[in-house]
Amino acid sequence: MNERPTTAPGSTREASDHYPFKEIEATWREKWDDLELFRQDLSDSDNKFYCLNMYPYPSGDLHVGHGRNYLLGDTLARYSFMQGKKVLAVMGWDAFGLPAENAAIENNTHPETWTKANIEKMKRQFHQWGVGFDWDREISSCDPGYYKWTQWIFLKLFERGLAYRDKAPVNWCPSCNTTLANEQVVRAGVCDRCDTPVERREL
Ligand SMILES: [Zn+2]
Repeated sequence: MNERPTTAPGSTREASDHYPFKEIEATWREKWDDLELFRQDLSDSDNKFYCLNMYPYPSGDLHVGHGRNYLLGDTLARYSFMQGKKVLAVMGWDAFGLPAENAAIENNTHPETWTKANIEKMKRQFHQWGVGFDWDREISSCDPGYYKWTQWIFLKLFERGLAYRDKAPVNWCPSCNTTLANEQVVRAGVCDRCDTPVERREL
């Protein structure tokens, strides 16, 4: 009779004793890389499937919340592959704004250096997870080649009178000298960067 191996409480026995994931996963990662499994040729667009997960903020380390998003997306992409669809799964980075600025100040580095190092690290981690993307199509919102298009679309809205200048109430931190998103006003109305009470201002 085959008995399922068990691990007694307090045992130092590792999961890798049951399932040698280090060897198995490395083997399959290499295989998928060699096959260029996720690189997609778009010239033939029959039976296509586009799989876009939300772009993560490059905070430096993948955590369980990333797992929830991107492993589900990867499962869907692979399921569609196995149904014979031509799957395009892409990845990019939501890499602008105060979090990068704050982290750069904290770590005494330039926001660009910090952001790019984190992107490289998270790419390695995605690869270790076995999550597949067509990395040839990677974008980063802090890249001038990308944000020139967000600026272009803003100008189009402006030309059509859909973007305009007006006064509106904003959250203002008098210490950081900047406006804050609602998410950056924490606890009883203080700035998440410097704990200064946030003011409402007409700007
Ligand atoms: Zn502040």
